[in-house]
Amino acid sequence: MKLILIFSALLGASLCLKTFVGHQVLRIQARNEEEVKQLRLLESLEHLELDFWISPSTSGRPVDVRIPANNVQAVKAFLESNGIAYSILIEDLQALLDKEKEDMAYSKQLERSSNSFSYAIYHTLDELYEELDRIAYEFSKIVTKIKIGESYEKRPLYVLQFSSGGSNRPAIWLDAGIHSREWVTQASAIWIARKIASDYGKDPSITSLLDKMDIFLLTVANPDGYVFTHTSDRMWRKTRSKIPGSLCYGVDPNRNWDAGFGGPGASSYPCSESYHGPSANSEVEVKSVVNFIKNHGKIRAFLTLHSYSQLLMYPYGYKCTEPADHDELDALGRAAANSIQSLYGTSFQVGSICKVIYPASGGSIDWSYDYGIKYSFALELRDTGRYGFLLPANQIIPTANETWLGLKTIMEHVRDNTE
Ligand SMILES: [Zn+2]
Repeated sequence: MKLILIFSALLGASLCLKTFVGHQVLRIQARNEEEVKQLRLLESLEHLELDFWISPSTSGRPVDVRIPANNVQAVKAFLESNGIAYSILIEDLQALLDKEKEDMAYSKQLERSSNSFSYAIYHTLDELYEELDRIAYEFSKIVTKIKIGESYEKRPLYVLQFSSGGSNRPAIWLDAGIHSREWVTQASAIWIARKIASDYGKDPSITSLLDKMDIFLLTVANPDGYVFTHTSDRMWRKTRSKIPGSLCYGVDPNRNWDAGFGGPGASSYPCSESYHGPSANSEVEVKSVVNFIKNHGKIRAFLTLHSYSQLLMYPYGYKCTEPADHDELDALGRAAANSIQSLYGTSFQVGSICKVIYPASGGSIDWSYDYGIKYSFALELRDTGRYGFLLPANQIIPTANETWLGLKTIMEHVRDNTE
């Protein structure tokens, strides 16, 4: 009976899950600016329903694109007729998704029997929120859970505050999962939460940091999108707000900040994956963070986790001019990348968003930097495209570990350069 129940529950869950049978992910290598132009043209062909995991930028940088099964031949023909080189990164996306689901079900069983939260597997929003509660309970001397707002679908936005005491202290902001399908970021963030809490009083670096400053950590910045990746569409990136006058849902919350809003690298087309939304801060998930940061008034660093590509970036994205603090940010970015690399050799490219990837307007770190938060960085975690957003769960802990070393390097610098 129990087995039948489990089986029907699985069946029920999978019935409404979007499938990606025959979807391929291609890596396209443009060799000159003319080929980049052709790829931009391809990107604009809405009827092909392409999902650019990495958009066309410059000729040196690869482009990754997911293509629905019935358009794979058309896209390949387009590329071949233009002489543009490509390779197949993922032959059949659904096969990879099935594997992820199978792994998850198996590890969940192990987790249940061990009766403790496993950091080596991906979790649902409810499970992550339960673990936040456990961390806040276990380390109640330094951790407080704060609700900073609600998502469009009324889910709470929880921030953990790490503080050894005092009031009105300078602080560091860290968030993850603003793009919901970037699962390794929410998973790394919860690992980092426990790491910070348990290292206080043991690790001199984090202890001296927390004796001077607070850390605020938002582990799931886009909870509606995250739930949707579990229940309906694993590849969902945006929020889930209803767009007036459109049949499509959701805004790219990292094009929605009030920084060059509506400029290059953002789309005004509501069905696009990079749709900037009807106005800056239209998304309550963005607005809640903006309000929190403004009300706090002493945030000195703004750090945000994305995946994938292994990049460590500073402003700007909405324009290609260098920020006033370029030299310091660049040196600090390189030091952080070295720390990341020191553990397993994972190599990160460092630079401004515009130079490293492409112009992208309405991004969070441009807003925070222009708002006066000097140490504004965005990290794109593992990998470089072998699995993309479907990074196997056995890479969560290594990813979190190396990422934490990079973040710590940045945080130590902020600590030592904050009054
Ligand atoms: Zn992202």
